[in-house]
Parts: sequence; structure tokens; C-alpha cells
Amino acid sequence: VPELPEAETIVRGLRTPLVGRRVSDVEVLRSDLLVTPADELRDRMTGARFTRVRRRGKNLVLDLDSGESIESHLVVNLGMSGRLLHRPLDDQTPPPTHPGVRWTLDDGSLLIYHDVRRFGRLDLKSPAALRKWHRGLGPEPLSRAFTCERFLESLATSTSPVRTWLLDQRRVAGVGNIYANEALFLAGIHPETPARQVPRERARQLHRSLRSVLREAIRNRGTTLRDYRTAQGWEGSHAGRLRVYGRNGLPCFRCNTMIERIVFGGRSAFLCPRCQS
Ligand SMILES: [Zn+2]
Repeated sequence: VPELPEAETIVRGLRTPLVGRRVSDVEVLRSDLLVTPADELRDRMTGARFTRVRRRGKNLVLDLDSGESIESHLVVNLGMSGRLLHRPLDDQTPPPTHPGVRWTLDDGSLLIYHDVRRFGRLDLKSPAALRKWHRGLGPEPLSRAFTCERFLESLATSTSPVRTWLLDQRRVAGVGNIYANEALFLAGIHPETPARQVPRERARQLHRSLRSVLREAIRNRGTTLRDYRTAQGWEGSHAGRLRVYGRNGLPCFRCNTMIERIVFGGRSAFLCPRCQS
């Protein structure tokens, strides 16, 4: 499931091919992926120019200028298995198997939204709708707004398990189950600890480890367990660097104790029972 590092990697891979390009054609092959009606998406995107490609939380935001200062923003939530792929004009690789939306750009290249399981969503928003959506999300963990003080204050207001807290996009944007588990391991915190009972020093460590694990994963172009691909169709290389996620039954890198898998909140959590007590 794509989280912040995967979305960031896709965004970085799309900036050069997209920014400045105009959309010459839009084909909607799977309208169930769209929040915006298909006709409206086609009308508003055809002829528009990409001005900026950015990320908010786990989402991709593609800014468009349709001329006469009409702006719109395509917000792409990749769901479980979404990919946003750029294919150059001379691309020799086989066409994607599950295309949902295909944009032809004015240089003949293609932008393809591909989604096997179809939990992803594409929403073309007005600037006002984008601002409202943006306000509903918590701070970006890699931004300066995400201070240790604010983090500690916010943790202290919640009795939820700390892993559940980390997954709440209103608390902090972009963290999903993989990086929540990894950060909790590095900080030595059991994932079920109620947020406000995390000792202060461990919470400070968690603030640091969350940021470091996200940065490390971005450097490795994200974690490919199955579906995730970069904009160029490559796998990320962070899967081999995971410390606890998916490693149940294998020895802890720190203490050799067997990593355990538990389930709460409907999601698996992975932990070292010795390092995270
Ligand atoms: Zn351990």
C-alpha cells in the first residue's frame, strides 16, 4: 500500500515529464475510479497544462492550468495497488494490464493510471475544494510544521493505541502501516501502548525515528511488496531494509528475539517483544 515515501517517489519521477506539458486526450477506461464524473474530467483536463506535481500525505496532487486563470487539481489516492505511470513516446515495454485512465500529452507520451484492485480514487478539485481537503489532513511529517513539541502535545490528547494514532491522517499525513511499525520498532515502543502513555523520551525518539525512516525509504524509492511501482515502472528497494514489517518468525536485527505479529484495529502489527516492551 503506497504511503508517503512511495507517493513522494512517484511525484519526483513525474515532475520532469509532466510539468509544462499539455493534455491532448483523456480516455476513461474505468469510471468507478473517478470521484469526478468522466465527462467533466475529460472536458476540464483536455487542453489543460500541468503546472506543478506535488504530494500531500499519501496522495499525489497534479495542478493544472486551463487558461483564463482557471485552475484545477487532480488528487490521486493510490488506494491499495494504484500506479501512476509515465510512458515516453518511444516506450518499448508492454502496455499496462489494468489501465483505468489514460492521458495523451502533447509530446506524444502517455500518463496512465493503473490499478489492479481498484481501491484508488481520482478527484479533480477546484482550488477551494483543494484547500478544504488540505485542511482536513494533519501536518506533513517531513515539514518544519511537524515539530517535536506539537507531536508530544497531540500524542498526549489521545488514548488510542500509538500505532492507530500514527495511521490517523488527521494527526499526521502520509504514515501507513509499514512505516508506523518500523518507526515504533526504532523508538522501542510497543504498538499497542496508548498514545498518551508513551514515555516522553520514547515519544521524542518516535518523532525522530518516524522522520528518519520516511527519509530512508524515499532514498530507497519506496517499498515494493507487490503492486507499488515508481512513475517509470520500477520497483522500490526498501523492502529488503524493513526491520519488523512482514518479518514475523524471523530474528530481530538488534537482539535476535523472534519478531511477532499481532492484530488489533483490524491490522497486523509487527514487533520485537524484547525491544518494544
Ligand atoms: Zn529485538
